[in-house]
Amino acid sequence: MEQAEITKDQYQIRIERVEKSRLPGVDFDNIPFGKIFSDHMFTAEYRDGHWQNLKIEPFGAIKYNPAMSALHYGQLIFEGLKAHRSADGGVNLFRHRKNFLRLNRSAHRMAMPALPREVFEVGLLKLLELDRDWVPSGINSSLYIRPFMFATDEYVGIRPSDTYRFIIFTSPVGPYYDHPVKVKVAEKYVRAFKGGTGYAKTAGNYAATLLPAIEVKKEGYDQILWLDGCRFEQVHEIGTMNVFFVIDGKLITPTIETGEILEGITRDSVITLAKEMGIPVEDRIVTIKEVIEAFHSGRLEEAFGAGTAATIAQISEIGYKGERLVLPAIESRKISNQLKAELMGIKRGLKEDRHGWIVKI
Ligand SMILES: *Cc1c(COP(=O)(O)O)cnc(C)c1O
Repeated sequence: MEQAEITKDQYQIRIERVEKSRLPGVDFDNIPFGKIFSDHMFTAEYRDGHWQNLKIEPFGAIKYNPAMSALHYGQLIFEGLKAHRSADGGVNLFRHRKNFLRLNRSAHRMAMPALPREVFEVGLLKLLELDRDWVPSGINSSLYIRPFMFATDEYVGIRPSDTYRFIIFTSPVGPYYDHPVKVKVAEKYVRAFKGGTGYAKTAGNYAATLLPAIEVKKEGYDQILWLDGCRFEQVHEIGTMNVFFVIDGKLITPTIETGEILEGITRDSVITLAKEMGIPVEDRIVTIKEVIEAFHSGRLEEAFGAGTAATIAQISEIGYKGERLVLPAIESRKISNQLKAELMGIKRGLKEDRHGWIVKI
């Protein structure tokens, strides 16, 4: 069934619905992370200098020419955000405008065209409206939303593509980690450095971390705690999470000002909530030396990662120069447990949305 719909004067979305929803086949009590996809996807094309051909269509394979430039030179950026089932049965989308702005910052760094806000927003809201039944209601479940953009020129040669595709699909998910994480401080590889692409959510940044991750997994760690790429002195972040430490009752997190770490929306939310709760926050350069010293003098009270997929992931152990530093018990961690409860409460509509973070679908 095709129906044309005028959503904004200039952007018209064609909607082709699935003939039969796959929803009845999904076991919502056992959803793995990122393996189940909702019925529809939103797509748009960039050609002749503007975005066009906006469509919502059944989720499915896309066909491309082997010379497609994203496959060779990596002009590919993505986003990750979530919608939650609220306590009253509604659907709450969390801070999507921030993701839109970040997508365009990534696009700029990768010499890709900006996406107009209408295309992102109208496409996303319409898609969620259509697939709203895919938002799970389990306490630890949500709908993960993956917008991404890639270069589609059929051309073997290094230059920015003239054509692009933007797609949003969604995936009902359970928890990303079902246990606290063990991180090993980077000592061999680097993720980002000044002037690089650290702040962009672009595919190559993640591809480059896969081999290092395999190596630390063999030693029993889940993730790497990245340090700066010049001197291995400053703490950056973990995989797809920003990192926070509680030292002497203060919440400390590495600054995004240097352009080396991803400007996490969970990070921003955690900082905002902590300040509101009267917790002292230090958003600055953090050295690995001070973290290790704080541990040895018994002042490192908590450590956690913050990101959309995992929300707040407790860090139980930090591996550093052959030592395994075992951190205080999770139950004793007042600040992060309180922040997590507050953040989840807002997302699920159990706590007041004082900052206008939620859009109801
Ligand atoms: C996505 C991501 C984060 C977390 O960002 P959120 O907006 O909170 O999900 C942190 N670090 C990296 C490297 C990421 O890719």
